[in-house]
Amino acid sequence: MAAKHLDKAGEPFTLVSMNEYHYLTTLLHEAAGGRRKPKEYAVPISHLLKSPSSKLVVDEVIAIDKEHRVVHTRGGERSYEWLVVALGWIPDYFGIAGLAEHSMTLTNLASAARIQEHIVSEFARYEQDKDPNHLCIAIGGAGLTGIELMGEILDFVSLLCIRFGVDRRLVQVHNIEALPMILPQISEELRGIAQQVLEEKGAKLHTGTRIVRVTPGVVWLEDGSNISAGTIVWTGGVRANPLLKEAGLTVDRKGRAKVNAFLQSVDDDHIFVGGDCSWYEEDGKALPTSAQLAAQMGRTLALNVRSIAHGRTMKTFHPHLQGTLASLGREIGIGDVGGVAVSGMPAGLLKEATKMKYMWQLGGIRLAATKGVEIVHL
Ligand SMILES: Cc1cc2nc3c(=O)[nH]c(=O)nc-3n(C[C@H](O)[C@H](O)[C@H](O)COP(=O)(O)OP(=O)(O)OC[C@H]3O[C@@H](n4cnc5c(N)ncnc54)[C@H](O)[C@@H]3O)c2cc1C
Repeated sequence: MAAKHLDKAGEPFTLVSMNEYHYLTTLLHEAAGGRRKPKEYAVPISHLLKSPSSKLVVDEVIAIDKEHRVVHTRGGERSYEWLVVALGWIPDYFGIAGLAEHSMTLTNLASAARIQEHIVSEFARYEQDKDPNHLCIAIGGAGLTGIELMGEILDFVSLLCIRFGVDRRLVQVHNIEALPMILPQISEELRGIAQQVLEEKGAKLHTGTRIVRVTPGVVWLEDGSNISAGTIVWTGGVRANPLLKEAGLTVDRKGRAKVNAFLQSVDDDHIFVGGDCSWYEEDGKALPTSAQLAAQMGRTLALNVRSIAHGRTMKTFHPHLQGTLASLGREIGIGDVGGVAVSGMPAGLLKEATKMKYMWQLGGIRLAATKGVEIVHL
């Protein structure tokens, strides 16, 4: 979003991105759960950056050398005067043995595509050998990502049962969560509704249950029991991209770099940090990581990096938390919007509307009209 605003202002900059497309992170569960083809959740960056002074470099950042003001990439190195870091997050496995090796994660578009393909291939394998483990899916973590993925997969497996002629009762979708509840960020009342909806769709929720170990195809729980599953996905923890800590920036326990009110690193005023990489405190409390805040930060980052480059006064960042909406499958959702609780189909429709809003913010009316039509279901 910062690049988009810099582009709009005609400010020369270079965007280093791993892909030549921008993927829609908040919709990765839809891609993983087969709602649409994964490529439909991507927008070519060439469709977003229009100014002739904007430059895209498709490469992976591997290190930030703040002393020499150089970013190292796989393809070489790039010096900078002002740097904006918004490299997102990586999974946090909390040291659970075997979890990284034997589970999939929902980290980017490629990983979402892998989950979708894997679930389909497990159904195909069941057709061959009738091993029930192929029909068992275990998701670790019941935060926003885990629950949205769960809702999506519950709908997806129902369609796969029809396609492969499998009795739906043979399919198991488990969620294992260490906390005593799902979706800790929403009210108890809404949580209860979410739980009921998911259980009616066939979910098996194991709250207050720690995963202690994962071996190939088996999730081991703290009470000594285990779940054998052909598909294991971990969504239970994330931490900021480790390049921030490795660069010597002050980070919190989640690896986010501490920033001041202008979103500037407290260690180096030539570095700005945004989105899930950013440790921003308001009234002594760290802001949560969220897409809405990442988008709001993008606007401030672009403004401030332009201001500092041109000797103008920077503006302080003012976060505006608008609420949380979670989908519970293709039709329905749950959440609070500006303090008002919503659930069921109205929440599902609101969730679809937020997609359109994001498309509009990202690419104006043209993107909203083209991509919006592809991925929004009203
Ligand atoms: C399934 C899912 C559902 C979600 N739903 C919601 C929701 O409903 N509401 C909400 O507020 N939040 C939601 N979130 C969280 C939200 O998506 C994140 O908080 C938000 O995307 C953070 O934005 P970001 O720009 O910091 O990071 P990202 O969106 O992760 O973007 C980081 C970018 O950096 C690129 N990158 C990473 N490493 C490198 C490298 N070394 N070199 C070059 N490029 C690199 C990546 O390819 C990516 O394009 C959801 C997340 C997931 C996974």
